[in-house]
Amino acid sequence: MTRVRTRFAPSPTGPLHIGGVRTALYSYLFAKKHGGDFLLRIEDTDTARTVKGSEDVINESLNWCGIIPDEGITQGGPHAPYRQSERKSIYLQYAEQLLNNGKAYLAFDSEEDIKAWREKSAADNKGISAAYNYSTRSQMKNSLTLSEKDIARLKEDKTPYVIRLKVDPSDHVSFHDMIRDDVRFDSSQLDDRVLLKSDGMPTYHLANVVDDHLMEISHVIRGEEWLASTPHHILLYKAFDWKAPVFAHLPLFLKPDGKGKLSKRDGDRLGFPVFCTQFKNPDTGEITEGFREKGFERDAFVNFIAMLGWNDGTERELFDMKALIDHFSLERVHKAGAKFNFEKAVWFNQQYVRHLSNEELVHACYDELTKLHSNLDKHFISKYVELFRDRIDFKYELVKVGSYLYSDIEQYDLDTLKKKWKPEAENFMLNFNELLASNSLVSANEIEIETKKLIEQHQLGMGNILPVLRILLTGTMKGPSIFETILLLGKDKSMERIKKLNYLLNS
Ligand code: GLU
Repeated sequence: MTRVRTRFAPSPTGPLHIGGVRTALYSYLFAKKHGGDFLLRIEDTDTARTVKGSEDVINESLNWCGIIPDEGITQGGPHAPYRQSERKSIYLQYAEQLLNNGKAYLAFDSEEDIKAWREKSAADNKGISAAYNYSTRSQMKNSLTLSEKDIARLKEDKTPYVIRLKVDPSDHVSFHDMIRDDVRFDSSQLDDRVLLKSDGMPTYHLANVVDDHLMEISHVIRGEEWLASTPHHILLYKAFDWKAPVFAHLPLFLKPDGKGKLSKRDGDRLGFPVFCTQFKNPDTGEITEGFREKGFERDAFVNFIAMLGWNDGTERELFDMKALIDHFSLERVHKAGAKFNFEKAVWFNQQYVRHLSNEELVHACYDELTKLHSNLDKHFISKYVELFRDRIDFKYELVKVGSYLYSDIEQYDLDTLKKKWKPEAENFMLNFNELLASNSLVSANEIEIETKKLIEQHQLGMGNILPVLRILLTGTMKGPSIFETILLLGKDKSMERIKKLNYLLNS
């Protein structure tokens, strides 16, 4: 059996979008599941589209996710270089091979000639412009129509030319895709695609096929947007007489409403990130935060991305990287596009935050809390974390979520306080403060028992007293156990806050 080797082959045209992360992740999972290799190759032959800094952010994003290549631009490897711009001479050599065996030809048509020809054909043919293919190549300026003498003269004059693939319309193009099953294309609909540009740079098609072959890629896992290029790739494998890799085209990431492909603009409009890690636009200096900067746990993010388009066939949703490697299969990748759902990403994060240890959470908020209040000690912070750990979606929310426990209450829910307040409870309040004063406050349980006893003695309902106490002590109706809160707040502060009742009722 051939060794499983997959690759992620981004073009450095900007930051790593979550769609790209998923392609890299699935390629990585598939390789690791089968004990194979995962490569990172940079496809930077389209220099006009290259954006400075992209390569760094791609590396940084993959590193953050734990998707570490076995071979690639940083790791090196037996097939180095892994940056296509450094492999120019290799592509030229293979393009020449195709020329020599009649599978490709030279084309001297200038860009302007082609543009004018297309426009004319569109005008003559109800807006449908001609394709450079088997039926039109005979009208064009290429090595199939020109004499050898003319070709030699054009070359001597340094007339720019490209190398085009000679697509035979009767050639049968079909392949089995691991996600979309059998895919067929009609070759007569395919154009004679440019393989090598006039500047000597290969196009994506030539470089991609040559590299996948030389780098011994067994499975090409990529986004559905590349499916339209695959028939040309299949024809290239045939022209070289090489075995084509197995293909798997992943479904698109869709906008939350399912209407169209997810873009950065959707993220800006709806307020969620679409990049993995932060990117600074080198031209405008604009910084766009990624999931990492928005406070996502890396494992939660990876889990979320993995589930956008795949499941293991059960209801299970939580998978760490190791479990993903164990359970992943391309057969279970969905055919339909995956709708992006930011609430689900937050849910994953919440699940992972809940699995963090107390120490990790203390560590996450310790510096900021002690900076805000130098008198907070480790014991307090640890208790604080215990109280609030299940009430947050992100680690960074810990500091603020219970701020009333270490600083003054900024805002009171006065409406609810006034609604819940019963004047018959006035004596209870006095007695409750006496209870606190006389109690050594050893456990929340004890405070709870004593409080409930007192409520009963006063023949009042819990539903009236507990909300009033909660608002007096915390300002809001939300929060963890009120008895735990009293314990952590301490008796002095609790009593002091309860004494504000009349003032608050009259404000
Ligand atoms: N360079 C292409 C990209 O930017 C690679 C497509 C492929 O994986 O073949 O996504």
